[in-house]
Amino acid sequence: PEAITVQELANRMAERGADLVKALFKMGSPVTLTQTIDQDTAELLVTEFGHRIKRVSESDIDIDTSEDVDAPETLRPRPPVVTIMGHVDHGKTSLLDAIRGASVQSGEAGGITQHIGAYQVALPDKSKITFLDTPGHEAFSDMRARGANVTDIVILVVAADDGLRPQTIEAINHTKAAGVPMIVAINKIDKPEAKPQKVREELLQHEIIVEDMGGDVQDVEVSATKKTNLDKLLEAIQLQSEILELKANPDRAAEGTVIEAKLDKGRGPLATVLVERGTLRVGDVFVAGASSGKVRALIDDHGRQVKEAGPSVPVEVLGLSAVPSAGDPFTVVENEGRAREVAAYRQGVLDRKRTTSAPVSLENMFANHA
Ligand code: GDP
Ligand code: MG
Repeated sequence: PEAITVQELANRMAERGADLVKALFKMGSPVTLTQTIDQDTAELLVTEFGHRIKRVSESDIDIDTSEDVDAPETLRPRPPVVTIMGHVDHGKTSLLDAIRGASVQSGEAGGITQHIGAYQVALPDKSKITFLDTPGHEAFSDMRARGANVTDIVILVVAADDGLRPQTIEAINHTKAAGVPMIVAINKIDKPEAKPQKVREELLQHEIIVEDMGGDVQDVEVSATKKTNLDKLLEAIQLQSEILELKANPDRAAEGTVIEAKLDKGRGPLATVLVERGTLRVGDVFVAGASSGKVRALIDDHGRQVKEAGPSVPVEVLGLSAVPSAGDPFTVVENEGRAREVAAYRQGVLDRKRTTSAPVSLENMFANHA
């Protein structure tokens, strides 16, 4: 099999060479742009970047970058994925609970048990919103640092009796850095000492200009405990979502991101995955970070077994070989052999015995510069 330089591979993939070098480095294979990598490594890197590859012959691979972009006619509207951020005690958890409680069907009333770190609410017009409740600020920036940008809209919660606090400002900075639109929920307006106007003025100092002040950032006065204006907040999310025209192709192999994972004593490694495109189904073979497996069962946010999960749907996946990390990409692949290969590669322990080109190592990287 022929070897290919990192630069040539980058050209064929239409990716930046530096990004490939970075990815290889992270996986324990430091190389320079002009060094060659073997075909297996190249293939795995291509998969890692989400491109599809076709092995046209034993000795050549063809990278079809066009396949990675879903054709416009395959795209369908998908629900927005919303993360709530704000200073501690400003009411993030209360607001998430209130929204979930308000949307719970009467049959489930009294039994609002959340099973996974994300849930969906259905609006009167049947459209849906996905809320993530795991990412604190750190999780949000950690996941972003790992290349996962799952949030479409940030709800910035600011307590009207407390105003902007350090973590509020941190949240503003994270949101700006991520380029994610923001909606401000001015919470605790039931309190006599609430000063919502003061919050709007403080936001100005951070270049967050709400609509009332002539800007384009939506703000909604809410009370999580009194359940005031929750419908207005959901409407604001829906409006922002329409502006974003969020779409995904549901008819393809699923790709998503691990939003949380743990080891369950009885059920083994579990991961909550947010599907970003495609539809995940029971029986699908996948790679999640350096873990791989076959979907044994899918559990939705109500703790029910489901057969499939489409774009923007959070679902718990059973059948992993190990516990992945939050932010890890979750990719359905064609077969178990391939899954193991990609997983092993991601661990940086790919067995290179089938290759003919020189193995990539720290030594030959430095030798190259000697
Ligand atoms: P978090 O740290 O941002 O998740 O904040 P919590 O949801 O835990 O809320 C912190 C405290 O503020 C709790 O005692 C809540 O009961 C209270 N709280 C949250 N929302 C409201 C509200 O709308 N009005 C009032 N009066 N108290 C609230
Ligand atoms: Mg909380």
